[in-house]
Amino acid sequence: MVTCLQTVNPFTRDANPTLPVTPIANMDAIVARARVAGAQWMALSVSERVERLEGAAARLQEEASRLGAIASSEMGKPLGEAVGEAKHCASSFVEDLRSVASALAPIKREDERVSSTICFDPFGVVAAITTWNFPILMLQQSVLPALIAGNAVVAKPSEVTPRVAEAYYGILNEFLPVDLLAIVIGDGAQGRALVASSVDLVVFTGSRNTGAHIAAEAGKRLARVILELGGKDPMIVLADADVGKAADFASRNSFRNAGQVCVSTERIYVDHSIAAEFENALVERAATLKMGDPADPTTTIGPMSSARQKAIVESHIADAIARGARVLYGARKQAGNFVEPTVLAGVDHSMDIMREETFGPVACVMAFGSIDEAVALANDSPFGLGAAVFGADEDRAMRVAQRLTAGMVGVNQGCGGASECPWVGARQSGLGFHSGPEGHRQFAQLRVLTRKKPKS
Ligand code: NAD
Repeated sequence: MVTCLQTVNPFTRDANPTLPVTPIANMDAIVARARVAGAQWMALSVSERVERLEGAAARLQEEASRLGAIASSEMGKPLGEAVGEAKHCASSFVEDLRSVASALAPIKREDERVSSTICFDPFGVVAAITTWNFPILMLQQSVLPALIAGNAVVAKPSEVTPRVAEAYYGILNEFLPVDLLAIVIGDGAQGRALVASSVDLVVFTGSRNTGAHIAAEAGKRLARVILELGGKDPMIVLADADVGKAADFASRNSFRNAGQVCVSTERIYVDHSIAAEFENALVERAATLKMGDPADPTTTIGPMSSARQKAIVESHIADAIARGARVLYGARKQAGNFVEPTVLAGVDHSMDIMREETFGPVACVMAFGSIDEAVALANDSPFGLGAAVFGADEDRAMRVAQRLTAGMVGVNQGCGGASECPWVGARQSGLGFHSGPEGHRQFAQLRVLTRKKPKS
């Protein structure tokens, strides 16, 4: 039985400090204690819960550098970006709490006969199982709405980034009753045990395969799920697009965080009339990126989070080359956990790299002959998280965007919506979603309370 979780710095390959693994035999007791703590927490009003947690914002701000440094040492993100993620979470913390609170305010509905109130009640105990690529943001997104809705939470962070999770939850716990927010340390085995326990809602961010397993397992007892899963985001570059701006976006969105972003641009479809110009522009931008030590402020691409992740990316690149893809930039073997920013052209849908999630710093360009063909190619995927369309005629680009099967589509920009918009995937990229009033309400059980209207 493994008793300690050992992570390794993906750049230095030094061992990070270990954490004790949560014994699976303890899982039911942890959930039971959370349920007891939750009974008192759910008796508070939404605004009382917000008040209790608000103080954590200042503490997160104070600890942002430490949180960022731990995250970077665990998953290799450039230090500046990791600290930026921690600071973003701290500075949006109070706004996030208030956004959830306002979404959970009771809603009145009435007709000529009756008047109803839609109330948002806690489910009970929420399991928050998270991934490592934005190791602080993922925690905040999963846990704040659950707590403000009145639930207790048992959190199981990724085995790649357990220490930053322990530090983040430790700060929240300075403001919360004992046992209300419990943390379970371990890997898929602990995750499976948590899903199999009596938790009422599983909030999960991770891969499609694990999401399918959780849906099946939770489905056995009809426990609720919110699953935010992987993607294979397409980008369509129309003939009239500003090639420089499209290449800027493609480079940024294919390579940031070493491509380990759920809404990374993983497939680029370019009108054949501008394909060569676009490819050159993309290569120029890829060549400006600097791979190296995450602690060096000039580094833009750190190592992959793990040797396992590197192996997946390398196997996709090798498969594409074997099937005829042209290497326009990169693809050379690198030491350690690094994968060089890589631009491939001449790709097609027979290749793993155009069908499976790669999650690495690779931009794949395929030329198209008509808009119908571009739309068909973009929609030819079981995934449907984000997408982007670039074109100078925005009305036409919007019409193309409306034909894409994706939860979020950006026109001449990335897929993230305005504040208070949900973060949502279509098809196998998600089941349920978070953020915005519609997302926040999924962390609560709706109860419709109705009475007769007095006769006038
Ligand atoms: P993963 O599915 O391997 O692991 C995610 C979490 O689930 C980890 O905590 C892991 O220990 C746990 N787990 C593993 N097997 C489990 C099981 N059978 N039951 C319960 N828990 C289990 O994914 P990963 O490699 O950590 O994350 C990368 C994936 O996350 C990518 O597909 C990426 O696109 C996706 N992602 C999606 C979003 C989104 O918002 N849609 C955001 C970030 C990442």
